[in-house]
Amino acid sequence: MMRQYHRLRAENPGAILFFRLGDFYEMFFEDAKLAAPILDITLTARGRGTANEAPMCGVPYHSADTYLARLLRAGHKVAIAEQVEGSAESTDSTGSRATKAARSGKGMVRREVVRVLSPGTLTDDELLPGRDNNYLVAVMRRGEAGHRDERIGAAALDLSTGEFTAAQFEGREAMLSAREEIARWAPLEVCFPNGQDAEAWIADRPQALRGVDSSTPDPATVAGGGTTDAAASVATWSPLEPWTFDPGRARARLCEHFGVSSLDGFDLAEQDAAVGAAGALLQYAIDNSHTAALRHVRSIRRQHDRSFLELDAVTRRSLELVESWQDGQRAGSLLSVIDRTATPMGARRIKQWLLRPLRLASAIERRQSVVAGLVEDLRTRDRMREALRRVADIERLTTRVSLGTASPRDLGALRDSLQALPEVRESLLELGQLPMCNELYEAMDPCVDVMELISRQLVDEPPAVLGSSGAIRGGFDAALDRLRQASRSGKEFIAGLESTERAATGISSLKVGFNKVFGYYLEASKANLDKVPGSYIRKQTLSNAERYITPELKEFEQTVLGAEEKIAALEREIFARLRDEIAENGARLLATAAAVASLDALASLAEVGALGGYRRPLVDDGVMIEIRGGRHPTVEALQPGLPFVPNDTYLDGDAHRIKLVTGPNMGGKSTYLRQLALIVVLAQMGGFVPAEAARIGVADRIFTRVGASDNLARGISTFLAEMQETASILNNATERSLVLLDEVGRGTSTYDGLAIAWAVVEYLRDDADVRPRTLFATHYHELTELAVQGGSVGNLRVAVQESGADVVFLHRVEPGAADRSYGIHVARLAGLPAAVVARAEEVLNGFEGPDGGLPSARGPISGVGARGNAPIDGQIPLFVVQRPGQRTSGEDEQMEPTEHAVIGRLRQLDLDDLTPLEALNLLAELRAAADEEND
Ligand code: ATP
Repeated sequence: MMRQYHRLRAENPGAILFFRLGDFYEMFFEDAKLAAPILDITLTARGRGTANEAPMCGVPYHSADTYLARLLRAGHKVAIAEQVEGSAESTDSTGSRATKAARSGKGMVRREVVRVLSPGTLTDDELLPGRDNNYLVAVMRRGEAGHRDERIGAAALDLSTGEFTAAQFEGREAMLSAREEIARWAPLEVCFPNGQDAEAWIADRPQALRGVDSSTPDPATVAGGGTTDAAASVATWSPLEPWTFDPGRARARLCEHFGVSSLDGFDLAEQDAAVGAAGALLQYAIDNSHTAALRHVRSIRRQHDRSFLELDAVTRRSLELVESWQDGQRAGSLLSVIDRTATPMGARRIKQWLLRPLRLASAIERRQSVVAGLVEDLRTRDRMREALRRVADIERLTTRVSLGTASPRDLGALRDSLQALPEVRESLLELGQLPMCNELYEAMDPCVDVMELISRQLVDEPPAVLGSSGAIRGGFDAALDRLRQASRSGKEFIAGLESTERAATGISSLKVGFNKVFGYYLEASKANLDKVPGSYIRKQTLSNAERYITPELKEFEQTVLGAEEKIAALEREIFARLRDEIAENGARLLATAAAVASLDALASLAEVGALGGYRRPLVDDGVMIEIRGGRHPTVEALQPGLPFVPNDTYLDGDAHRIKLVTGPNMGGKSTYLRQLALIVVLAQMGGFVPAEAARIGVADRIFTRVGASDNLARGISTFLAEMQETASILNNATERSLVLLDEVGRGTSTYDGLAIAWAVVEYLRDDADVRPRTLFATHYHELTELAVQGGSVGNLRVAVQESGADVVFLHRVEPGAADRSYGIHVARLAGLPAAVVARAEEVLNGFEGPDGGLPSARGPISGVGARGNAPIDGQIPLFVVQRPGQRTSGEDEQMEPTEHAVIGRLRQLDLDDLTPLEALNLLAELRAAADEEND
């Protein structure tokens, strides 16, 4: 057996071998050591203490799915070796083989690897996240790296849905664009030509942009690379034979698969690298999914970027489109707010739309008009969503049908889904003659013939696996009916035998039983042995009973067991035929699934729009953005108790092209910036937006640069990364772009940072080629001077209401510039020790004073200053603190009294914690300090 193990092990390098032994999958040697900690199972040994001791661990085969999923998620491939004999076994949906033949076989049980699972080649529902695509990706590079002639081909295939895409990136930016695309696919597995170190270049630090989340702060480590999020999501890197990427060969492979003579129809005519990657990917998928055909992969789509609003990795992350910044979870993202889809297909579709909103106003309007129809017509919307809820994942069901792994229950789910489609289509008709409705109606073929085919053959409630419980409907196949009848009457006879034999022998406790070794038997207790007739043949002795058979019993047993085996074989045969017949309709089913997915996504946008009080935006090809009463969709949804303060935004390509947003920390600057981007994204997806009214001149890209301060908690942002992102924006933004800069320049010293921020705004204002619409949030209120110089720069500030030392954040954005940052106020709110807050006020006073000088040195803080109730030492002045303020442009500095130190001191006391004695001491100290000052 171990020889067999070693042979299979050698034949499947790079994969953990699941070696079937009875009811377990066992792993040995290095595999066992690797897997045990991941699976959290005990590492034992076979032949412990002998020369052949082998580390070993195992998992029960009936719960293997959970363990498989864990290994795949950890980035491992798994080869499944089953016990096989002859060719009579069948494969069920988890890839395990019937082992009955193997168990009953003589001598050594033969084992073969029946399947190699890798993260990208999964098609099993149990192992797949239903609401996400699972892309397998291949990449290749041609030409010289970083040169004009460099070409990078990338292809992505979701085997579970049959979706196949290829893209080619060219020129100096090729690598960056390819990384972006790969990050968007978020593949679990990436194939590449052996020798082209894809892992290194995909993970390599981009030279000019992104990867806020990617790198370490030290430039010395930059060249070696952190990981961009393209690489971070990849679990498995699969090097393939380089010749499989040869464009000529790959083209032939693709043409053969699609049954075409050239790839022109797929718009891939001169796309060597894309074709190479796609051909190699297809070959790999075919080799590894253990089905020769991949019939459900019926076409390939070339990725065209110009039709879409581009959102790079940094922007997707900082806008929290599909996952929250903090913990990477779906909750807290825009997706979690807008995904009210009824089907997994719809959930995948809305996520795709969110990551790739449209750019063409006409295309956006097509979606919008359906959403609008559904927002207005609650009855139709409810009816449609109710019907959609009855539709299962037709896309993945069809795939499993094509791969030959669909179970009876899968076909039942397909039948029920098809039955729900007429209702979905009728609800579409109620929306009237909208172009997109008509298209969806046409594309959504309810495949009545397929539905009837299944209904005729499959029972109403089909079992999860083919087996004893009967999947094929009675009356469909005469031979099957006859066998079932024979089995039934045999069973009835045997059941009746108990009472007839009891009567005949007079043994009232006589029983008929069944076990796997002897089959059916009659059992009499020892006390009744004298009554057992001589015709009974003894088979087994138990401690207090004897078991017998009779020729008659054996004869009926033959009928029953023989019939059952034949029934199982015939059911398998009929079922496989049914599956194949459905597979022939794969293209129609997939087209239907695609239409259902889009409709579900539209209905979800409508539901969210209607419930959230969103409005239909006017989307056009101009450059103006005008939003009245805009709200942040995620903040609003996640803080339902708190009223959200709506704000207006106006940007155009002219006098209002750049807005500097100033105001206190916590005032709502970042929220205001992101709210604009999210409204644009929602509008360009075709959805309604959280605003009273909106007009959006479509954007080609949204760039964001979020200040280092906001990301430091993750320990991943650096000033270098900040500058790289800023460089990318200045190099790539067009007049159609929307740029959101949040705290640029904060990662370095104040004057450096201010200088850079100043120069960046000037560049955006003055450069003739880079004229994006821009919101720039900053704490450098000095920048607001730029607006005074005129041109396209204007000031906005978030309003606060001051009362004494207290500041109330109004979250209202209004024209004008803030004059100070209120940072010290926020520090106080955060619970900084009172002595530190007081000292900060003093130091600020020094900086902002007429001399702008450094503060004078101070002595040590005495007492328990850290808790804020330190006794006042002589260093805290009792004179009224004067601080400069309100230095608005053009005005002279003016002095304004602020809080007396004694009042500040009293305010910070924790009265609950103060003993009478401490209170008296404090009074005495204050008095002493006052006396000293008077002196
Ligand atoms: P900082 O400069 O410290 O980064 P900020 O000015 O960018 O602060 P935000 O982070 O945008 O402030 O907002 C702080 C909090 O205020 C948010 O978490 C949000 O809960 C709340 N907030 C912001 N804008 C609004 C609004 N328009 N209505 C209600 N609450 C808001």
